[in-house]
Amino acid sequence: NPTRRPLMAGNWKMNLNHLEANLLVQKLAASLTAKQLTDVETVVLPPFTDLRTVQTAVDGDKLLVGYGAQDLSPHASGAHTGDIAGPMLTKLGCTYVVVGHSERRADHHEDDTIVNAKVQAALTHGLTPILCVGEGLEIRELGNQVAHCSDQLDAALKGLSSEQVAQVVVAYEPVWAIGTGKTATPQDAQEVCGALRQRLAGNVGPETADQVRILYGGSVKSSNVAAIMAQPDVDGALVGGASLDAEEFAKICRFP
Ligand code: PEP
Repeated sequence: NPTRRPLMAGNWKMNLNHLEANLLVQKLAASLTAKQLTDVETVVLPPFTDLRTVQTAVDGDKLLVGYGAQDLSPHASGAHTGDIAGPMLTKLGCTYVVVGHSERRADHHEDDTIVNAKVQAALTHGLTPILCVGEGLEIRELGNQVAHCSDQLDAALKGLSSEQVAQVVVAYEPVWAIGTGKTATPQDAQEVCGALRQRLAGNVGPETADQVRILYGGSVKSSNVAAIMAQPDVDGALVGGASLDAEEFAKICRFP
């Protein structure tokens, strides 16, 4: 869709120290032309401990690469040992934050209520949430993926104004396709991404729904990205494993 700028976001997960982060960001930016970085928004999502280094690289060399964090606290500050608050991320120049990744839902028992609070915290502190939804294998085998993902979307966006919904990036990540090498077919991706946009349209109107970028995530590689990006309701990709290799991620960003 020409009105929505494609977004490629690299989720590094719990990989790379700050020295490796610096190398990867520099290499990534050097592998893409200014036009490519303008046509396709390119974002990295490093661990918290790398963010200051990424900020220094991006600011110092005026790299056209955005960055953000993989999680944030629903609270703005206070007695929450080990957590990181939205204002800390904004201060480091982050523009994005992942919310509700399936690994956090599983490892840290994050439920829809927490995910909703985190989406609200992100928006309050000037960060664009990349809200992840997706079904596990059992739900997919029952054919309930659309209902499941649409319900997760509603729960995560509860209480938001349509102006706020317009700022959210949604990522459809079928859990069975994350880190498994099993990519959803382009038709599978379109089925759910299209349904999510329809659900948004029902909730906040078609004009707002048309503005929202919906990403696909799950074993995206340079070899399968073009077919996924050809789907009308897929506006980008959330890339895990393949984003740890600068040349491979750059190829993904050069998908057109
Ligand atoms: C992810 O963790 O968001 C993801 C899509 O991982 P991978 O690309 O490795 O499947």
